[in-house]
Amino acid sequence: MSTVPSTEERIQSTARAIFAALANEKPGRLSRERLQGDMMEWAMADERLKVELLRFVDVFPALRSRAEIARHLQEYFAREGVATPAALRWGVSLAGQRSPMAPLASAVIRNQMKAFAQRFIVGRDARDAVPALRTLRRHGVGFTLDVLGEATVSDAEGLAYQRTYLDLLDGLTAEAASWPAVPAVDEAAWGPLPRVNLSLKITSLYSQIDPLAFDSGVSVIKDLVRPILRKAMATGAALTLDLEQFRYRDLALAVFVSLLDEEEFRDYRHPGLVLQAYLRDAQSDLVRLVAWARQRRRPFNLRLVKGAYWDYETVIAAQEGWPVPVFMHKPDTDAMYERLTRQMLEAADVVRPAFASHNVRSLAVAIETARELGIARNGFELQMLHGMGEPVRDAVKGLGLRVREYAPVGELIPGMAYLVRRLLENTANDSFLRQTFVEGAAVDELVRPPQTSADLGADLFRLPVVQPTEVSAPGPFRNQPHADFSREENRAAYAAALARVKADLGRHYPLRIGGRDIETARTLDSVNPAAPDEVVGTVAYGGRAEAEAAVAAARAALPAWRGAAPADRAAVLFRAAELMRAQTLELSALMTLEAGKPWREANADVDEAIDFLEYYGREMLRLGTPRHMGHAPGEHNVYFYQPRGVALVVAPWNFPLAILTGMTSAALVAGNPVIVKPAGPTPVVAAHLVRILEAAGAPPGAIDFLPSPGGEIGDFLVRHPGVDLIAFTGSMEVGLHIISQAAQYPAEDGVKKVIAEMGGKNAIIVDSDADLDVAVTETVISAFHYAGQKCSAASRVIVLEAAHDEFSKRLAEATRSLRVGPPEDPATRVPPVITADARQKIEDFIARGKEEATLTAAAEPPRGGWPDGGYYVAPHVFTDVRPDAVIAQEEIFGPVVAVMRARDLDEALTMANGVRYALTGGLISRSPAAIARTRREFRVGNLYINRGITGALVERQAFGGFKMSGVGSKAGGPDYLLQFLEPRVITENTLRRGFAPPDELVDEGL
Ligand SMILES: Cc1cc2nc3c(=O)[nH]c(=O)nc-3n(C[C@H](O)[C@H](O)[C@H](O)COP(=O)(O)OP(=O)(O)OC[C@H]3O[C@@H](n4cnc5c(N)ncnc54)[C@H](O)[C@@H]3O)c2cc1C
Repeated sequence: MSTVPSTEERIQSTARAIFAALANEKPGRLSRERLQGDMMEWAMADERLKVELLRFVDVFPALRSRAEIARHLQEYFAREGVATPAALRWGVSLAGQRSPMAPLASAVIRNQMKAFAQRFIVGRDARDAVPALRTLRRHGVGFTLDVLGEATVSDAEGLAYQRTYLDLLDGLTAEAASWPAVPAVDEAAWGPLPRVNLSLKITSLYSQIDPLAFDSGVSVIKDLVRPILRKAMATGAALTLDLEQFRYRDLALAVFVSLLDEEEFRDYRHPGLVLQAYLRDAQSDLVRLVAWARQRRRPFNLRLVKGAYWDYETVIAAQEGWPVPVFMHKPDTDAMYERLTRQMLEAADVVRPAFASHNVRSLAVAIETARELGIARNGFELQMLHGMGEPVRDAVKGLGLRVREYAPVGELIPGMAYLVRRLLENTANDSFLRQTFVEGAAVDELVRPPQTSADLGADLFRLPVVQPTEVSAPGPFRNQPHADFSREENRAAYAAALARVKADLGRHYPLRIGGRDIETARTLDSVNPAAPDEVVGTVAYGGRAEAEAAVAAARAALPAWRGAAPADRAAVLFRAAELMRAQTLELSALMTLEAGKPWREANADVDEAIDFLEYYGREMLRLGTPRHMGHAPGEHNVYFYQPRGVALVVAPWNFPLAILTGMTSAALVAGNPVIVKPAGPTPVVAAHLVRILEAAGAPPGAIDFLPSPGGEIGDFLVRHPGVDLIAFTGSMEVGLHIISQAAQYPAEDGVKKVIAEMGGKNAIIVDSDADLDVAVTETVISAFHYAGQKCSAASRVIVLEAAHDEFSKRLAEATRSLRVGPPEDPATRVPPVITADARQKIEDFIARGKEEATLTAAAEPPRGGWPDGGYYVAPHVFTDVRPDAVIAQEEIFGPVVAVMRARDLDEALTMANGVRYALTGGLISRSPAAIARTRREFRVGNLYINRGITGALVERQAFGGFKMSGVGSKAGGPDYLLQFLEPRVITENTLRRGFAPPDELVDEGL
């Protein structure tokens, strides 16, 4: 940092003066004594205990009875390895007993929690908050009110949130008029300040907020903010848009700038925004905002913070394989904060700066930089969170500076996420408050300039370019990172790819047999399910003669391909992955048009296909290395694999690239020539895969492309003696048929192997203590995204009694809020289903559901009907569904979900397991015991806890089920490739005339 030395000296001396004032504090309000025996103190003592405490704070509002509190206390704190402090242990053991003291213990815990919440929350609502706000003003401290409410899952909830703000403005304006003036907080260098000051989170207004649907999101959010802004303007209140997670940052900025550019709000005098210093690119936002404000010649309030979502941002970036948007080194954030402080003060002509921090050094920098730049004491303000830094607050107030507290109002439930964040922040090792008040770090340490790292100046914000995989040194497998659609360049690139692909529709794709194009008399039109008049492409359509030719070509290719070195076969997959990476956008856009896949899901489909290529390539290298078995001298044993022969791949349309690539590449890399029989609705995507594999080096005949009618040619190929292996993904009926046909018609060389991934009737169990924000959001995603057309999709939700009614009500509202529409529109969550036939089947199930259960919610068609003749089905939620009802037993493959009520976990598990399938399942619960039991007893191939049940990633969530969900082992897992191989063992007696060479000198000839 290039601070002028004298200013640096002054910063340190001001910081020391603040520390001196803190030292004079009566037994500290945030001191060690005060914290003794309290949650924060405990959390700081032990990491494991901290986890349990954070989780208990999180679950507490959902505990509806004394027994539930007692059970959770036991489950969280009476566990092996948790260093529960004596005072808490006492409460835990009492609460757990059936003694007369038990209610008392629960009451004590409840009071503790309330007291903890009250430290940070000023009241339940405006009326409740008034005494606290009056007290603040009496102490010469201003406020900005924030309404707690983190997850808004429906339009109705968004509107309720908006209503709260409007009421708050009405209620407080009348109230504030009667308050005595407090010049220290009511007057700034530029004139009088509003007494009522609000902060607003855009995510709380709009349940469908998603940076992918950027423009429509900005427009909807503006519609929701406008009435609040109008009222703020009319009542003379200040309104600041908070910043939240990085993914919503650009949305918030766009809403702010474009609203204020509207004629109506051009002269609003108190708009405010937030800048987060922990973001690597915060500086460029500041530059843009300042230029914008100068150009419109209107100042705005800007609150500089460090950023409250550090843990979230780092975890999500690591999970997604994205560059981390925040600094990783705390002093870098501090240094950026100081840099931005100066830049904001230098732009004081248009920026009305507020510095929000509890860090004495950060505050001193603001104070002294302002002084250096000749800015009046009331030309900026300092802000702190209510309940977090009273001693610091009072010390800076003592310097004659304006201080404002960020004061949340709300009920305990929506407040919990906020409280968990505060608890996390206060107890983090790097936290200034912890360092100061708990660790007792030396003042010299705390006032010195941040010791920055090289990371501060580095441009680490770009996605690392994925290098092509070298077959000789492939490195560990990593999932292909999905596109981050919060970045404008990715949205623009997808839109451009859609336009390019759309301009090029209607091409023709011949069959490929033995490396040659083959035309047929019959052709098949592939259409856009959102606009069936639009032909995406035509393909040649094979009959018996072509099927026979394909088998012959594959058999001809077998000896050479089988004999190719595993590394050479793996190299084909790695090159194909590279080609696919280069065409990701075009392939995704094509899928949007041919399979009706919305952007994010189409993109993820291509990424998954790349993952399969990279993963199975590595798997072949692993399995292709012969293993030596046993160590008997004079005997050489080698264990190795050979391919099975010719493979027939029968693919589904719902993951037109990913699943097809998975099955095809596994068969191919294992040395089996493949006949690809794509799904009827998606042959064009399949044609692209075949071209890619050929371009990557698959020799003629090793991959043949044979679109053809399922029943007739499918059966012909399945029965054909030249086919040794069938890999199928699709419905149970077709899967069972293939299995029986394959058994009856053996191959020339033996029994046919069938790998069949079939259906699911997947359930999510929602426990009585579930976080319903998570339960509703994840159910909606799992059941309705891509119109429920995933074998992993949720089609049953089993809700425990205590949570049932609230969950069902919120799920119904959330369902009505879903955007159903064409997948080309980035705002679409529920696209059309794949064909008119599929729509009819789903509608039949819906009709059945209306007879068997109660229809609780269905998204409405738009006025004027669904567009372009697309095959739309609105998402439907049925409640009061009996476990044996048809809609609770049969796979529907559409956006229909059956909600069932369970008395307890026993019943829930019985229902969950009570279907023919066992593919995916989920549990939303915060009870360690319920989680442990469900892990053991909910028998499905893929069980997900506290998240959605779709979106399995190659390797991380190897995918596949059992019972009627399939035969074979998991796709994208370590056993998958084995199904395409046969193991052999060769034993050689190496002892000749009493002489046995060492193992490594034996020529294996493999
Ligand atoms: C009035 C007010 C309003 C606020 N409004 C918002 C808002 O709208 N949006 C928002 O996101 N936050 C907001 N915050 C919270 C703020 O971002 C900080 O989380 C909080 O103030 C703690 O920072 P500090 O300077 O007080 O403490 P310090 O202890 O000095 O700093 C802690 C902060 O450093 C950063 N950090 C921690 N560890 C690391 C690391 N390893 N590497 C890099 N950086 C790290 C994090 O941002 C963390 O919060 C607000 C805070 C206040 C006081």
